[in-house]
Amino acid sequence: MSILVVGSVAYDTVETPFGTAERVLGGSASFFSVAASFFVPVRLVAVVGEDFGEEQLAAFKDRPIDLEGLERTKGKTFHWGGKYSLDLNSRETLFTDLNVFEFFKPKIPAAYRTSEAVFLGNIDPVLQRQVLEQVEKPQLVACDTMNFWIDGQPDELRETLRQVQILLINDAEARELSGEWNLVKAARAVRKMGPRTLVVKKGEHGVLMFTDEGCFAAPAYPLETVFDPTGAGDTFAGGFLGYLASAGEQGDAALRRAIVVGSTLASFCCEAFSLDRLLTLTRREIDERYREFQDLTRFESL
Ligand code: AMP
Repeated sequence: MSILVVGSVAYDTVETPFGTAERVLGGSASFFSVAASFFVPVRLVAVVGEDFGEEQLAAFKDRPIDLEGLERTKGKTFHWGGKYSLDLNSRETLFTDLNVFEFFKPKIPAAYRTSEAVFLGNIDPVLQRQVLEQVEKPQLVACDTMNFWIDGQPDELRETLRQVQILLINDAEARELSGEWNLVKAARAVRKMGPRTLVVKKGEHGVLMFTDEGCFAAPAYPLETVFDPTGAGDTFAGGFLGYLASAGEQGDAALRRAIVVGSTLASFCCEAFSLDRLLTLTRREIDERYREFQDLTRFESL
């Protein structure tokens, strides 16, 4: 199975208590693609400007990431700036220079139309639907969104959610989308909107997944040094969907393994700026940390 991803490829300028990274590679589709490429071939649909360099492109080379859908147009690449609090638990967006992303109309190359899995990154829900319309019968459709679209385009978002099987959002977004403060109630309401599987990300407090079978909880890996959490959510999604697409089945047991694979990849993402840690990561390191997750959550019957 190969995954088509649509989202942002960006330059990020990030300030953390440990330092600043200027104009480094970022964007939801970048983190997603590299994480998913450990498991399945990825087809990347995004836009960059004339200033996007070979050095940044190198991140995608030598991996099964197809770049035919990465459009390059006149103008500057999307540039996002964020600053983290001392405990890294909250962040402030300093600027969002949309640049070429403002006029982004995803064009799906003919070779991508038979993609079996699709990840709709956090973009306008109307564009998310246009992507789906250009793909023939995908077996697996997962989606991300954010407060900006929940508040700004609620009807369009609802229409998109009707066509999605798996929604990955954070706890604040689940509350906002459902109008319910309690996450169990929020999940019930969101699942009625379309996605049979809802994954609620809670940062350093881990993940909750709601399916027809019930609820599954996984902690975040207890990292000794969290350096930069930017992209952790997208990296989680890439590991989760990449593993799921490679598993060849989407039952509850596979979904649970995918949650832990996503958490594993996200923990590595936080160890360095940008995609730096993901780019040196090996399959063996992923497997080792996955096993540590098993130990972390194993307990006996009373
Ligand atoms: P995350 O930390 O998982 O929320 O993802 C952060 C990444 O999302 C950064 O690399 C940004 O470049 C990208 N990003 C920030 N704001 C937006 C936006 N409005 N649309 C698309 N991508 C964005």
